[in-house]
Amino acid sequence: MRNILTALAVVSLLSGGTAVHAGPPTALVSGGGTLFEFHSAFWMNLHHVLHEQARRNAVTKGANHWGPSYPVAPDAAALTEPQRKAWNEALDYYERAVVGRDLLFDSHLWWAKNVVSRHETDETLTDVDLAPGLRAALNLAAPVYRATAWPAHDAANRAWAAAQAVLLKAKGAAIAQDISATFVTPWPKDKVRVDLVAVANGDGAYTSTMPQLHAVVATQDPRDQGTRGLEILFHETSHGLIQGTQRALDRSAFDGRVVLGDLWHTVLFYSVGEIIKRHFKEHAPYAEVEKLYTGRWDGHLPLLTQHWKPYLDGKTTRQQAVDALVAHAIPPPPRAP
Ligand SMILES: [Zn+2]
Repeated sequence: MRNILTALAVVSLLSGGTAVHAGPPTALVSGGGTLFEFHSAFWMNLHHVLHEQARRNAVTKGANHWGPSYPVAPDAAALTEPQRKAWNEALDYYERAVVGRDLLFDSHLWWAKNVVSRHETDETLTDVDLAPGLRAALNLAAPVYRATAWPAHDAANRAWAAAQAVLLKAKGAAIAQDISATFVTPWPKDKVRVDLVAVANGDGAYTSTMPQLHAVVATQDPRDQGTRGLEILFHETSHGLIQGTQRALDRSAFDGRVVLGDLWHTVLFYSVGEIIKRHFKEHAPYAEVEKLYTGRWDGHLPLLTQHWKPYLDGKTTRQQAVDALVAHAIPPPPRAP
């Protein structure tokens, strides 16, 4: 269903009738091994590029939308006048209707992600279940993107997949096994779908778990390279494996304990970071490099080191570690007024 094999050779009206290849006949990219199914898909990339550029435009006008640190838009100076007009019209729509929505938590964008991934090799989005304005904006911007930034974005996605393939081949199975044992949850039966995109959200990656585990990873994000990119792959997948541990934390705290905000998420960050380090000694965990344990998650690192690490080292059970975490947790910092 997701891999419609359609040969694409598109004549772009907006590039003056020049024939350009839309890309390979499938968005599947090798490199994910037995664990992951990598896709470098045109519509998924276009959707995220428009979202990001429109977000930047909104921020220049005073909006407060957090996002990635690097630009990915087609080079404006290289666009013809009709291309610029079409691109800007699509951006205007995204700025008006899309950027105020969160790519992960907004139900419309969650839906849009699923729809465009099902139609990833369609030449145009015709009979698809998207809001008419969104569909029109994507179709309007598509020839411009195909003729400009897409080939380089696709190449970068494939290069990222090739780099990750080396790491996955060496240690992927062992890492998956350790993660599965840590969260006491089997690894997914099917390969986990990962869409490789030039740009994603402010976090550089996000994952929905319904109707199945489906991650989106930004291959040009400086934070997602090398073994930290590998950590992100396993981190995102672990969002589908953490629920039992999250429930154990909630249950342990139910009788009146205060649990640090997002403790389950730092348990996830810490566990996957430490497991990657177990297999790649030189690995510096993502949360430490990106200083996630200061500010919002202040106090989490000492707690995890003292009460969760013994479990990762095989010295306690998960329940003992959960109870110790909850017993020593401190309340989240008060919200800013
Ligand atoms: Zn996460």
